[in-house]
Amino acid sequence: MNRTFSIIKPDATQRNITGSINKIIEDNNLTIVAQKRIKLSREKAEGFYAIHKEKPFFNDLIDYMTSGPVIIQVLEGDNAVEKYRKIMGSTNPENAEEGTIRKKHALNIQENSVHGSDSEENAKIEISFFFNENEIISN
Ligand code: ATP
Ligand code: MG
Repeated sequence: MNRTFSIIKPDATQRNITGSINKIIEDNNLTIVAQKRIKLSREKAEGFYAIHKEKPFFNDLIDYMTSGPVIIQVLEGDNAVEKYRKIMGSTNPENAEEGTIRKKHALNIQENSVHGSDSEENAKIEISFFFNENEIISN
């Protein structure tokens, strides 16, 4: 059993499709063991995406991620990190596989509906960036 960190991004909260995304998560045997709806501050978003700060899309990414509410989650299950990356689909929805969240819901490479940690190590860092251990309640 392990954990990954998820964000349902502003394009999805805006379109009221967070329930549909949660259904895909749960149908794939990941359990939502923590969940909060928040508005990211610019500072928090820049900290979270610090790894991308030299990228040409960084400023647009921060504008977008702070443009509306997001749902932050901790997901738990077998191989949670790898499994969630697979369920999300490719960053660019044009390349996303059938049945993935991004194939079904993403609008474009930026407004791509979800974030998921890309390694076990980053999952731990990202979870502790947003949650206290006592806010995470396993089944
Ligand atoms: P995430 O980190 O959000 O789970 P990812 O790992 O698939 O997505 P990254 O390469 O880490 O993708 O990029 C982080 C986010 O930055 C993407 O999810 C997307 O919202 C945005 N992004 C990535 N590449 C581009 C691009 N070329 N143009 C615009 N936005 C981009
Ligand atoms: Mg990434």
